[in-house]
Amino acid sequence: MTFRTRFAPSPTGPLHLGHAYSALLAYDLAQAQGGEFLLRIEDIDQSRARLEWEQQIYDDLEWLGLSWTTPVLKQSDRLNLYQETLTDLWRRGVVYQCHCNRKDILAAASAPQEGGEPTMGPDGIIYPGTCRPNTSLNDTMPFPENAALRLNLSVAATSSRLSFTELSEGPNGETGLIEFSADDLRRSIGDVVLARRDIGTSYHLSVVLDDASQGISHVVRGHDLFEATKIHVALQQLLGLPTPVYHHHKLIRDDAGKRLAKRDDARALSKYRADGYTPDDIRHMTGLPV
Ligand code: GLU
Repeated sequence: MTFRTRFAPSPTGPLHLGHAYSALLAYDLAQAQGGEFLLRIEDIDQSRARLEWEQQIYDDLEWLGLSWTTPVLKQSDRLNLYQETLTDLWRRGVVYQCHCNRKDILAAASAPQEGGEPTMGPDGIIYPGTCRPNTSLNDTMPFPENAALRLNLSVAATSSRLSFTELSEGPNGETGLIEFSADDLRRSIGDVVLARRDIGTSYHLSVVLDDASQGISHVVRGHDLFEATKIHVALQQLLGLPTPVYHHHKLIRDDAGKRLAKRDDARALSKYRADGYTPDDIRHMTGLPV
């Protein structure tokens, strides 16, 4: 199998040092194995994605000295595929329509009988299951358009043991074979949204389908997505897709130890470039070999 990594930014703001680190690391790993480095534009949220930011991504990555296999995959071109997959999951009865808004979820999750404080998962408050149906048979009901759909983990994660291989380390030093159960997922993550009402898909669904379509063998990304990987593994199993090897890396932080965000324009790559820094300086600053 071809060793293939990818960098998958959202064109919603300038790339910063943290993005540079992730992209360079994925690129270096592919180069070291004689493999391929791919690029994917994660622009499902069309209300936030901008073509100017997409162009800036290409410019910044080229400046860093990266090249990638073309064509670049854009998620906004694949909305039909996401919809087809959701329709299939709906027929199989493993997703359900959710009518809750944030306030409803907070209120239900903080109900006194639940212990007061809502439990947090990687996607925010763990969904308390208000809209989860008692039966999983949706095959006769028409697929709901423009609806929020949640993964029904009570019926979907049927295999009790799930696992992936971590080549580097998770945020708490997790490495090697990472094993977890469907029950762990229910407790720590809950019924995640697979289709947002406004965009008809979600990060989780799109990323899993696209990593498989692009034949990604090694997913390189930040520690912040380590828990999300468990959802992705469950989805891969549900959709009959292969599970890549994962390499979660450290997050680049500012001087105060805070993780960099898109709004930290001061750390934008374009700013460093305008200030006369070189790509080797960027490698240096992020701890990568020159
Ligand atoms: N688009 C995601 C981001 O900007 C990256 C997702 C991933 O690497 O899986 O954080």
